[in-house]
Amino acid sequence: MAYDVEKPDEQWRAELNPAEYAVLREAATEPAFTGEYTDTKTEGVYSCRACGADLFTSETKFASHCGWPSFFDPKDTDAVELIEDRSHGMVRTEVRCARCGSHLGHVFEGEGYPTPTDQRYCINSVALRLAPAEG
Ligand SMILES: [Zn+2]
Repeated sequence: MAYDVEKPDEQWRAELNPAEYAVLREAATEPAFTGEYTDTKTEGVYSCRACGADLFTSETKFASHCGWPSFFDPKDTDAVELIEDRSHGMVRTEVRCARCGSHLGHVFEGEGYPTPTDQRYCINSVALRLAPAEG
């Protein structure tokens, strides 16, 4: 699968700090309740920390109390790529940035959150960068 943004591994290592690299490029998960955006309510757009693509907006962020920033819908459907993930003895749906293929988190469905989609995009803070809205 080819992405619009592809870089050699050494370049990702040079551009990302170790925590960012572990999540974005090695699909690690940051510890729950530690990420800088877990409870953030600031209005703005969340972009991919690896390539800068716009991924989610504050309008679809909700308080899931799960320990990670949670969104009920991506900014654009095409902004993220969903991939079946059978690691760790579970079947989950991995969420990746569609532009650079970096790991963002997982999406869960049918958990009963009172959101329009009944989906929870459970995204690592370290995979995102928030650009606060003007004014
Ligand atoms: Zn990206």
